[in-house]
Amino acid sequence: MGKYVYSFKEADYRNKKLFGGKGASLIQMSQLGLRVPPGFIITTEACKKFYEPRREEIAELEAALLKNPPPEVRDQVIEKLHKVIDSLELPQEIWREAVEYMKRLEEETGRKFGDPNAPLLVSVRSGAAVSMPGMMDTVLNLGLNDETVKGLAKWSGNEWFAYDAYRRFLQMFGKIVLSIDEKLFSSAWEEIKRKYGAKEDPEVPLEGLKEAVERFKQIILRERGGFPQDPWEQLRLAIKAVFKSWMSPRAIFYRIIEKITPDVADCTAVNVVTMVFGNVGWDSGTGVVFSRDVATGENKLYGEFLPVAQGEDVVAGIRTPMDIEEFRKRFPHLYDELYRGVKLLERVNKDVQDVEFTVEKGVLYFLQARNAKMTALARVKTAVDMAKEGIITREEAILYVKPDHVLQLLYPRIDPKAKAKPVAQGLPASPGAVSGQVVFHPDDAVRWAAEGKRVILARVETKPDDVHGFYAAVGILTSRGGMTSHAAVVARAIGKPAVVGAESVEIHEEEKYLKIGDIVVKEGEWITIDGHTGNVYIGVVPTIEAELIPELEELLSWADQVRRLGVRANADLPDDAAIARKFGAEGIGLLRIERMFRKPERLELLRRIILAESAEERRPYLEKLYKALKEDFKEVFRIMDGLPVIVRLIDPPLHEFLPKPEEVLEQIYQRKMRGEDASELEKLYKRVKALQEANPMLGHRGVRVGVTHPDFYYYLNRAILEAAAELKKAGHNPVVEIMIPQVADAREIVFVKEKSIIPALRDVEKEFGVSLNVKIGTMVETVRAALTIDEIAKHVDFISFGTNDLTQAVFSFSRDDAENKFIPQYLELEILDANPFETLDVKGVGKLVEYAAATAKEVNPSIEVGVCGEHGGDLKSIYFFHKTKVDYVSASPFRVPLARLAAAQAAILQSK
Ligand code: ADP
Ligand code: MG
Ligand code: MG
Repeated sequence: MGKYVYSFKEADYRNKKLFGGKGASLIQMSQLGLRVPPGFIITTEACKKFYEPRREEIAELEAALLKNPPPEVRDQVIEKLHKVIDSLELPQEIWREAVEYMKRLEEETGRKFGDPNAPLLVSVRSGAAVSMPGMMDTVLNLGLNDETVKGLAKWSGNEWFAYDAYRRFLQMFGKIVLSIDEKLFSSAWEEIKRKYGAKEDPEVPLEGLKEAVERFKQIILRERGGFPQDPWEQLRLAIKAVFKSWMSPRAIFYRIIEKITPDVADCTAVNVVTMVFGNVGWDSGTGVVFSRDVATGENKLYGEFLPVAQGEDVVAGIRTPMDIEEFRKRFPHLYDELYRGVKLLERVNKDVQDVEFTVEKGVLYFLQARNAKMTALARVKTAVDMAKEGIITREEAILYVKPDHVLQLLYPRIDPKAKAKPVAQGLPASPGAVSGQVVFHPDDAVRWAAEGKRVILARVETKPDDVHGFYAAVGILTSRGGMTSHAAVVARAIGKPAVVGAESVEIHEEEKYLKIGDIVVKEGEWITIDGHTGNVYIGVVPTIEAELIPELEELLSWADQVRRLGVRANADLPDDAAIARKFGAEGIGLLRIERMFRKPERLELLRRIILAESAEERRPYLEKLYKALKEDFKEVFRIMDGLPVIVRLIDPPLHEFLPKPEEVLEQIYQRKMRGEDASELEKLYKRVKALQEANPMLGHRGVRVGVTHPDFYYYLNRAILEAAAELKKAGHNPVVEIMIPQVADAREIVFVKEKSIIPALRDVEKEFGVSLNVKIGTMVETVRAALTIDEIAKHVDFISFGTNDLTQAVFSFSRDDAENKFIPQYLELEILDANPFETLDVKGVGKLVEYAAATAKEVNPSIEVGVCGEHGGDLKSIYFFHKTKVDYVSASPFRVPLARLAAAQAAILQSK
């Protein structure tokens, strides 16, 4: 025969599954010697047993609800579910055990359940293995009736208090156990308060309370034919009600949303706890306290206390409580006791605590404890502080902080004190909060920014052509597109806050205004966007600047000591490099040279280079271009002095830098209409047309351009190498690595080295009289490169997995199409577990990475292996890379701290 009931003294607090979180905390606190009112727990096993007779039907109905049916169907299912559950009875053996434990409680407290002289009252509280705040039910003051209320008055010498408890009980029992609409009670109570001129509950005089009791009893009589005066019947019904609350529709939906599956929490326990009264007088009250400040992390108690009140009053916010400092002044002894208790719990549970307590006539009772939820700032600070205080180890501190906390701390945030109301919401595409004047065209963004204005670029959606506007703007807002739309990807890559796909924002690019409902915002007016929440605000909303707070810096320095994986940054421009270095990057894992072309004069040169028909025609433009690029390289190398910088030779298809054929055609037409000569444009049109490709992503790009235009690659290399040579001569220490993209065969590498890289190196070394120690490597982003890595590895000093392109190639998914058209559905149908462009597909792509990394090292033991796709900044992917032969990951500058932390977490978790 099973045992279903345990007292706080005999149970094991570690068994949260059996006793629920609340029950476990009551057990723990009692056993630690904190003052907890005596009580017992009816286990979650009892709850399961309660449901057992109709388990299958209930499971079916629950499954029907999970399918998210239309409202009519849903309501029918809920009704059926209630009928089934209502038919259930509390199993005899459970009830017998509960009664036995009630008897023990009577002995322990010296009071008797239902005794008209010294009545024992209890609370009947729900509590599952994981906290489901507000989802299930609790009944307080159980055991009161017309007789015991008098006994309570006598025992306490306070009739007011006894009737206050009684009216509370009737209302709670009526609502929770008898399912009577709560409004009936609350409106009657409001009437009584008005009648007696009471602003707050404690001002209602005794007659008012007695009147409330009468009215509440009438409501119950009318609605349900009365309530049980017998306390044992009250208890039986309350236990059933708490069990039933596990299956309330809101609890079911909460479990779905929070992914609380039976292996996490299965059914609720029932905690029966002797009542202690915070509403006896002004030397009594109820409160909630945190062992540290959950907003700032500061090491001081934080919380509230409400005198003359019972538990639910604090949460309901019906009166303004005093803060814990005030409590300290008024009740210094109680404060000390509370402080000691809370800190003891913190030490034992190794985390910040959230504790419910009640003071009855100057005596403190602990009623619940759990690990506190807190802000990102507080999480980081408390983790580091607790490690320094010896409460947790450094490794535990590293595991406490979630990567998302780190991200939140690095970006400017909306100041919560501003209490601003958003007018629209889109997707939080790239974090950070900024205010700026709205502009609707990228060229306007550039113009306005040149005048020193802060602008937010608002577009329906964005294209690669708009990118100069991204650099000029402080933030980006679009009304269309998802988390992986062009705007979102670019914004994240360059660390600009962005809200995308804000569908309620109507953007009129031509007319230069936007509209949200009735609100019209014209060009130049201020708005604020928060890329962390997706919120859009009118006007300037104050923000808080982000910095690496000292505690985060310290935590990351601990992380650096335990991680195996190196962390570099994907950074293309000097500004990005500076951020990357500040955030602790150990070099640049990917510098995309093409991002340096995004200046109008350079773009023009590049166009001429592409359109030229022979190497001779190209040369003067190449000469000019490489000299301009050199300056940028020098800046980046100087910022990264002493750390490796991997520069990738030009990668995208060339026509991306050219106007579209339709655009050229339009211009030709315009000219002809004006009777002007259009022969230049006609030539351009022919070239542009000829360069068009059916599948540009699989077309003439990357190393293929290097093979067909060795002179182009030669000059790119000169720009890089001359920058390094000049710095070296000036006493700096540039560490340059050159990377060839899109390679599919080792012979491509041999060719490019021979025709472009080595000649450039030789020429520069001779001209500048320095010797440059340059590493040459390749991306591994085609499937063939991964499969033939044994050949490739012999010709390079390093390889770097371009996991974005590799994922495209392995899945044969074109990224933009996939993410917009079918991946969301694939995720919903669970055909995919995660978007493979965000989290590395371990089974498929991962297998290639694992194989290629290991084989490369076998063939060429000194080879360096990195990852430079977006996956380098993704937690789960980093956990995976840790287990492979990959040496380092490279992430966007703002994700560098996250990657440092994640790499350390991977190392710690694997060693366990
Ligand atoms: P929840 O899970 O919603 O927090 P609880 O079971 O913790 O519900 O109870 C609701 C409120 O009643 C809490 O503030 C709690 O501290 C208070 N409470 C519960 N049991 C007792 C008791 N035996 N004596 C006094 N207050 C109680
Ligand atoms: Mg509680
Ligand atoms: Mg690529």
